[in-house]
Amino acid sequence: MTSDPAPHRALNLALLRDRNDAAVLRAVRAAEDGTSRVELAARTGLTAQAISKITARLLADGLLTEAGRAHVAGRSGKPRTLLRLAPRSRHALGAEIGRHGLYLLQVDLTGTVVAQDRAPIAPDAEPGPVLDRLAAMVRELTARTGTDGRVLGLGLACPGPLDTRDGVLHQVTGMPRWHGLHLREAVQDRTGLPVLVEKNTTAGVLGRPGPDHRAFVSLGDGAGAGLVLGGRVQRGARTNAGEFGHQCLDPAGPPCACGARGCLEALCLTALRDGRPDRAAAALAVGVANLVRLLDVEEVTLGGTALLDDPERYEAAIRTELATRLPDPAWQHVTLTRADPLAVPRGAAALALARLFG
Ligand SMILES: [Zn+2]
Repeated sequence: MTSDPAPHRALNLALLRDRNDAAVLRAVRAAEDGTSRVELAARTGLTAQAISKITARLLADGLLTEAGRAHVAGRSGKPRTLLRLAPRSRHALGAEIGRHGLYLLQVDLTGTVVAQDRAPIAPDAEPGPVLDRLAAMVRELTARTGTDGRVLGLGLACPGPLDTRDGVLHQVTGMPRWHGLHLREAVQDRTGLPVLVEKNTTAGVLGRPGPDHRAFVSLGDGAGAGLVLGGRVQRGARTNAGEFGHQCLDPAGPPCACGARGCLEALCLTALRDGRPDRAAAALAVGVANLVRLLDVEEVTLGGTALLDDPERYEAAIRTELATRLPDPAWQHVTLTRADPLAVPRGAAALALARLFG
């Protein structure tokens, strides 16, 4: 039996077209004052003919606009027509499902937040009504901004463990009713939008640009980490990398919701429940020092409600631990930053924008 190669060829051509369009869109987005077709060819390595075709298509789609003419720096000759991104031509949505609340925001093509909304989640809520509420919020927000039909997709962040490939949740701490839920499918059915599901900590590390080796460490109702190494987000073999909260710090320690004992998350949550934030900070700091020793990240962004309620305490504990545990802290300098409270839904929206920008 022979197979027809034509569909594969068509698919490959479509993928190549999308990749080239994405490269041009990225180059235009990076040039805040506009850029010419000649500069785009130089920046992307595409031919002048290809740039001409791609920019014509992107102009027709409304994604680019022509923005006057200007002489290109360092080049003589006639002025070139400048192209700019049309930031409000499309939008993306980013949502976070937390254990206590739903957050939704809308960004334009530059990632600027143009609208946002939030709603509480009752403890032990069934997933169905929570997702119905999220879908209603999506409808209300896009109606309010008049962008219905121009939304690229919805990035959805929630606590892990979860498999981002099939969008299924696995034993999320404190959310037993959500175990085994096909989250992506359930939200796609309710909103009619393409949905990308991501672990909240991975969305957090994507919430803002940063160095090529960085981590987002979160402590709230659970503890976790999102990782970017070598400029690429790291999800692991089953998309379950970054289960930072379940590293064992004390094999004889308190039981953890995951079934093991002495996990960093169990130590931190037990200490916080006992009114001992100093112990929670000390345990988290050991975990951060372990992470820096293992992965040599140069920036750690701190997020999560418990941590951001008392950031100086955690930063001081982490600095002390790094100074003690790293062989040469001056050489292996680590910058600590605090996360924007919207880092997670922002990062989720960035995933939806990546459908266009690659
Ligand atoms: Zn655990």
